[in-house]
Amino acid sequence: MKDETKLVTAGRDPEANFGIVNPPVYHASTIVHATLDEWDAAHERRKAGERGVYYGRWGTPTTFALEDAICALEGGHRCAVYPSGLAAIASALLAFVKTGDHVLMVDTAYGPARRCCEGLLKRFGVETTYYDPLVGKGIEELIRPNTRLVYLEAPGSLTFEMQDVPVIAEAARRRGVVTLMDNTWATPLYFKSFEKGVDVSIHAGTKYVVGHSDAMLGLVSATREAWAAIEGMSKDLLGQAAGPDDVYLAQRGLRTLAVRLARHWESGVKVAEWLRGRPEVVRVMHPALPDDPGHALWRRDFLGAPGLFGFQLKPAPRKAVAALVDGLELFGMGASWGGYESLVLVSRPNLFRSVRRWPEDGPTLRLHIGLEAVDDLIADLEAGLRRFNDAL
Ligand SMILES: *Cc1c(COP(=O)(O)O)cnc(C)c1O
Repeated sequence: MKDETKLVTAGRDPEANFGIVNPPVYHASTIVHATLDEWDAAHERRKAGERGVYYGRWGTPTTFALEDAICALEGGHRCAVYPSGLAAIASALLAFVKTGDHVLMVDTAYGPARRCCEGLLKRFGVETTYYDPLVGKGIEELIRPNTRLVYLEAPGSLTFEMQDVPVIAEAARRRGVVTLMDNTWATPLYFKSFEKGVDVSIHAGTKYVVGHSDAMLGLVSATREAWAAIEGMSKDLLGQAAGPDDVYLAQRGLRTLAVRLARHWESGVKVAEWLRGRPEVVRVMHPALPDDPGHALWRRDFLGAPGLFGFQLKPAPRKAVAALVDGLELFGMGASWGGYESLVLVSRPNLFRSVRRWPEDGPTLRLHIGLEAVDDLIADLEAGLRRFNDAL
C-alpha cells in the first residue's frame, strides 16, 4: 500500500463505530472494571507491555488511532503521544540516560532541545558534546565508552544543514549507542527514520501533522528494542498524556498530509529559487535546490521537502530588515510552522551554536511557505525587498 493510501486508511475502523468515518474522541481518565479478576488481568497485560484501555494516561482508542497511523507510515514498532514536541524530546532523552552518561547532540538541533541538555541533563550529571552536522563517519571518534545516545536533526534548525543519517546511525549501532532523530521537518511521509537506521523518531506534531496551527502535540516512535524505555519514561515516570481533542486534530490533519506537503514543497522551491535570483539575497538554505550543499544527501535519503527553508540577506541595518518584514501582508511573524499559512522569522542561529558557527554577515531569515497562491507570496516578498532597499 502506498503512503497516500495509508494516510487515508491507517488507524481508522468505521465498522467498530457505527460506520462513522473518523475515530471517536474519548474523554477518559478512569476506566472501570467489572470484577477483581478483570482488574488484575488488566494490570498483568499492562505490565507485559500490551496496549489496552487501562487508565486515561495509557491511551484510549482516540490515541491508538493516531499512534497506529504514524507507525503505519513511518515503520516504527509503537508510538507515544505527548502534549508538545518539546515534551516528546525531553522524555525521549531522559528515557536513555543516567548520571555519568554522555550524549552527542547535533550542533544545529532545535534550540530548546539543546536547552534540555544544559538545563535538564546536566543537572543530573549527564554530559553533552555538540557535534558538527557534517560529521558523517567522524561521529565514531566522538563516541566514548559512556556515550549512551546520539541525537540527530536533519536538516538543521534555522540553517538547514543536511546530515548523513545512515552513516551516523550505523556507526552508533555498532557501538551499542541509541540514535534519536527529530524528524519534524520531513514528517513521517518524507523521511523514513527506521529504514535509515534510527532507533527513535521524534516529531513536533504541532507542525505539519496537526497542520492547522491550532493544537500542540508531540510524537515519539521507536523500534521494538527502544520502545520499552520510551513507554516506561513517558507513561510510568513522567506521566505524559495529550488531550483527546488535540490527538483527534492530529489524526485529522494526517489525512491530508500528502496533498498539503506536496503543495508546500512545490511552492517552497519556487519561492526559494526566486529568492536565489535576487541581488539582495546572498544565500538560500534549501536542501531541495540542486546547488545546496546538502542536496545529494537529501536526494538520496528524503522523499520530499516541506515548505520550511532559510535565506540570508546581504549585510543591512536592522531598520531595513524591519521594513521588509513589518510590511508583509501574507507572512505572519511568529514561532512554529507547518500550518496552512505562511510565516517569516528573523533568526539568530549563533544563539544556539557552539561548534559550527553561522556566518552572520547578513540577516538570516526563515520562511514557512503556506498554501496561498505562490505568485501572491512572491509579490508580497518582492514588495518587502523594495522596502528593504529603500531603507538601506
Ligand atoms: C517546533 C519544534 C519542536 C517543538 O515542538 P512544540 O510542539 O512547539 O513543543 C521540536 N522540534 C522542531 C524541529 C520544531 O520545529
